[in-house]
Amino acid sequence: MSANLASLLVRSAHAWPARPALARGERTLHSYAQLAARVSKLAAGLARRLAPDDRVALVMKNCPQYVEALFACWHAGLCAVPVNAKLHTKELEYILAHSGARLAFATADLVDAIAPLQGPAARLTEVVDVESARYGELGAGAPMPMAARRADDPAWLFYTSGTTGRPKGVTLTHRNVMAATLAYFSDVDAIAPGDAIIHAAPMSHGSGFYILPHIAHAGLNVVPESGGFDAAEIYALLRAHRGVSMFAAPTMVKRLVDFPRDADSSNLKTIVYGGGPMYVADCKAAMARFGYKLAQIYGQGESPMTITAMSKAIHADIGNPRYEQRLASVGQGFTGVEVIVADSSDRPLPAGETGEILVRGDPVMRGYWENAEASAETLRGGWLHTGDVGCLDEDGFLSLKDRSKGVIISGGSNIYPREVEEVLLRHPRVSEVSVVGQSDPQWDEAVVAFIVARGEPPAAEELDALCLENIARFKRPKRYVPLDSLPKNSTGKVLKTELRKLLAGADSIGAER
Ligand code: AMP
Repeated sequence: MSANLASLLVRSAHAWPARPALARGERTLHSYAQLAARVSKLAAGLARRLAPDDRVALVMKNCPQYVEALFACWHAGLCAVPVNAKLHTKELEYILAHSGARLAFATADLVDAIAPLQGPAARLTEVVDVESARYGELGAGAPMPMAARRADDPAWLFYTSGTTGRPKGVTLTHRNVMAATLAYFSDVDAIAPGDAIIHAAPMSHGSGFYILPHIAHAGLNVVPESGGFDAAEIYALLRAHRGVSMFAAPTMVKRLVDFPRDADSSNLKTIVYGGGPMYVADCKAAMARFGYKLAQIYGQGESPMTITAMSKAIHADIGNPRYEQRLASVGQGFTGVEVIVADSSDRPLPAGETGEILVRGDPVMRGYWENAEASAETLRGGWLHTGDVGCLDEDGFLSLKDRSKGVIISGGSNIYPREVEEVLLRHPRVSEVSVVGQSDPQWDEAVVAFIVARGEPPAAEELDALCLENIARFKRPKRYVPLDSLPKNSTGKVLKTELRKLLAGADSIGAER
């Protein structure tokens, strides 16, 4: 098997040329033969402009061209940089500069944000609007044969927010992404030709990794017309396609469950949930509605979608004496992936004891792009240090307890408190700030900022404006809580656990959203 991920498409196009490969909503756009031809021509267009290993940014909301652009990058021997479309312009700028992207594909809504970054003197030489004639021209020439790739060549730079407030580029090689693809078949689900996946979650993130197993087994990649998550649209798509899977954050699952009961979901095959904690009651409600069609994964950009999994069969094993405990867990380590819980010296802890979750195996990233220090720190001793805290039971089922890096997961998106804190500290009347997550029925967690002011606390509108100028909208706090001082330990570290205890009783500055 070729190390190049693009081989998955070439192979399926040979075996299943007439099968539908790509759809927008209910409408099939291309068969496997057509998709493979479009990809090899687009790859040729890229290869005429760029050199092997160059980075190509995908600054796109979900759209069918995502699949083409991703595979064209690999077919041409280039590295894709899928960027979260919800980020602020300043964050996009940072990622484009840091990755050294030479070309960017963008959806029309995002072209204006990044167009000023291109130029003869800039590293970024061209921004291609995927809805324009230019995109068609790029893929109009002769096709090219697939470029040779080594397994350790970078395939996907996955930018993740960091504890330092600056995004870090997780460097995923062809080996890493191939391992994550095969792990889907071994531990999540089978896919037959003609089965479909609906990409309602961001393709720059979780859902994007599930394009690959569906290409590998000649499934149909369906991009909703809306390019996002809309429960009514999902139910409509479930009537149009069969053998349907989707990746969904717990909030999305909840919205599907809350949708009027008469909506038909018989064509649903599997919902893979993950990316944030799912409560047992919500999981049971989803199974009561859909049957045993739920599977769970726990992963992170550094080991994409592949740390632990809980199959549909485990979800259906209701007679198991440890059933409740299992449902509350994130499942067992993926086949071929080692998962341990370790103490602060990286020594494995026995079952039942809580420590940091460490991971080793083929899906684990090569390191962070141009950040040797963070790579060495996170991969020390050959283990990925996830920053998640958990414990294993006697059967190897992992339960997550906390996130040592304090990340907040709101509506399926990760928010690092530090990024928000740094922005709020720019206000002249903010002397200290600490950001925590508060449980929220709609978003799982909501961002709350505790503010120690110099004199009169600033108005919530001023703080909001500061956030909107600097960071993505979804990271803006839902609540600002004034305090005289932050609770700290003897070394001056802010005690976030104490802050969380204050959440229920505290008054906010201005209105809460
Ligand atoms: P990201 O790198 O953006 O994919 O975020 C990964 C983080 O999301 C992990 O480190 C966990 O803290 C959290 N996470 C992922 N999957 C799950 C899950 N199934 N249950 C609870 N938290 C999860």
